[in-house]
Amino acid sequence: MSLERKIVLKTEDLVKTFGEGDLEVHAVDHISLEVREGEFTAIKGPSGSGKTTLLNLLGGLDEPTDGRVIVDGIDLSKLSRNELVDLRLKKIGFVFQAYNLIPVLTARENTEFIMLLQDRPKEERTQRAEQLLHAVGLEGHEDKRPGKLSGGQQQRVAVARALAPKPAFILADEPTANLDSKSTENLLDIMKKLNEEEHVTFVFATHDDRVIQRAKRVITVDDGKIVNDEWKEELVG
Ligand code: ADP
Ligand code: MG
Repeated sequence: MSLERKIVLKTEDLVKTFGEGDLEVHAVDHISLEVREGEFTAIKGPSGSGKTTLLNLLGGLDEPTDGRVIVDGIDLSKLSRNELVDLRLKKIGFVFQAYNLIPVLTARENTEFIMLLQDRPKEERTQRAEQLLHAVGLEGHEDKRPGKLSGGQQQRVAVARALAPKPAFILADEPTANLDSKSTENLLDIMKKLNEEEHVTFVFATHDDRVIQRAKRVITVDDGKIVNDEWKEELVG
């Protein structure tokens, strides 16, 4: 299974429990997994199985009850609040179901936004945003605000924005949930191309069969546990 590929994300005995006593919910229940560079991995499972909770832990958006998350060799539990914010901006790309673009900013400005927070030079920001919006098929739409774009186009801006700082991987929680079939296929084509040509690593939480069918690896969770972990397409090169 391509053991030479770098591990970009790892969890050790990860636990997230909500509530107490009779109301205790083991949303993530002792999950250990490794994700290598170039994966196109779907985490699937029924509603309430813990996918979002797991993704939030993987992205350092939530704190585990127990266990560890290691991003690009860095143990998140060892970081201060500010270091964690910094690591998230640098190393982790997020794509959400609801796109989460900033409505008053254009596609270009949304794409540049994280680089702006990182104080990247203007020229680099402009160039990278241009290149990314082109890569996601939004040439000619750079100056439109989200309200003037379709759902599929907004989600492609979200992918461009997530990629801008060259993160170690992209976490996408139900990215196709609000999209019709055509926009879904289009978005998946673009992400798969970025995965194959640029080795961008994607981890999806999804119950969408169209995403699951395109995944190279499918991890099934139920009741906060991994119940199956299957490779459909090996990593090559
Ligand atoms: P999925 O994304 O697979 O639908 P979630 O991770 O959203 O699953 O939820 C897993 C379980 O954890 C569910 O039982 C849910 O009700 C519970 N849960 C999630 N977030 C919270 C929270 N903030 N407080 C209490 N329970 C939560
Ligand atoms: Mg969810």
